[in-house]
Amino acid sequence: VGDADLEFIHPSDLSPLFPRRPRDAHKGAFGHVLCIGGSKGYSGAIAMASRAATRSGAGLVSAFVPEAIHALVAPAIPEVMVHSSMPEGKWTAIMAGCGMGRSATTREQVLHLLEDSAVPVVLDADAITVLADHVDSIKSAKCPVVLTPHPGEFAALFGLKVDDVQEDRFGMARMAADKLGATIVLKGAGTLVATPGQPIAINLTGNPGMAAGGSGDVLAGIIAGLVAQGIAPFEAACAGVWLHGRAGDLAAAEKAQASLIATDLIEKIPDAFRDIS
Ligand code: AMP
Ligand code: MG
Repeated sequence: VGDADLEFIHPSDLSPLFPRRPRDAHKGAFGHVLCIGGSKGYSGAIAMASRAATRSGAGLVSAFVPEAIHALVAPAIPEVMVHSSMPEGKWTAIMAGCGMGRSATTREQVLHLLEDSAVPVVLDADAITVLADHVDSIKSAKCPVVLTPHPGEFAALFGLKVDDVQEDRFGMARMAADKLGATIVLKGAGTLVATPGQPIAINLTGNPGMAAGGSGDVLAGIIAGLVAQGIAPFEAACAGVWLHGRAGDLAAAEKAQASLIATDLIEKIPDAFRDIS
């Protein structure tokens, strides 16, 4: 990888991305995210992703979860409209995958999204791995697509070994972005963001305390919330990973890395935002 194909994500580049908030602003001007996910035993992931989207500036956030967990998810996130059948809405971004399960239904729903969506789609977790034999559906989507795999999900999508992915993270991120025509967020220490035709961006915020369940769900929600406001997918992914890592660093400064939990990250998103404005 030549120097020209690598850039650092710097906070001073991020604030110009955000829509201004005039005094007479109303919620309709800041987008509406639909978050799809959750399954029995996995209600927290979609709750955290949706809540992170609300903390990231989206005007409105709706969630679509299975009936079986509706009564668990809805009270956990009062700002979010939680549905157990596919709602109608003027979405400006759709996120799917958190806690969704690797079922055939998940695969059908994700394939349908990729075929049908007119607005950007952010896919995380199970919504990525179920596409292992369907990577062409990502390339042929008419909407912009952002994928947020950890190395294991990245490896599963392409039928590779995790070690192979980790040994050549730059090459892998570049390959995936070009092959899929999508924005790829390859997570882990030094998260990489790649998209066709642009240098790869590397993020240096974050810490090993973030290696804890739910951390990635928070990131997916942040990125979806940013995309929903009209920020372009690549820029939203860069801003999202920086804010997420910064939130983790702020939380670790107070609570120590060993004690970090994903909801701590959500609570620090507001302070992370103050560091880019
Ligand atoms: P997931 O595995 O989907 O829960 O995602 C974990 C999240 O935490 C990703 O955003 C990772 O980049 C972040 N993370 C995990 N471990 C580290 C680490 N050692 N340093 C920085 N970020 C990390
Ligand atoms: Mg995850």
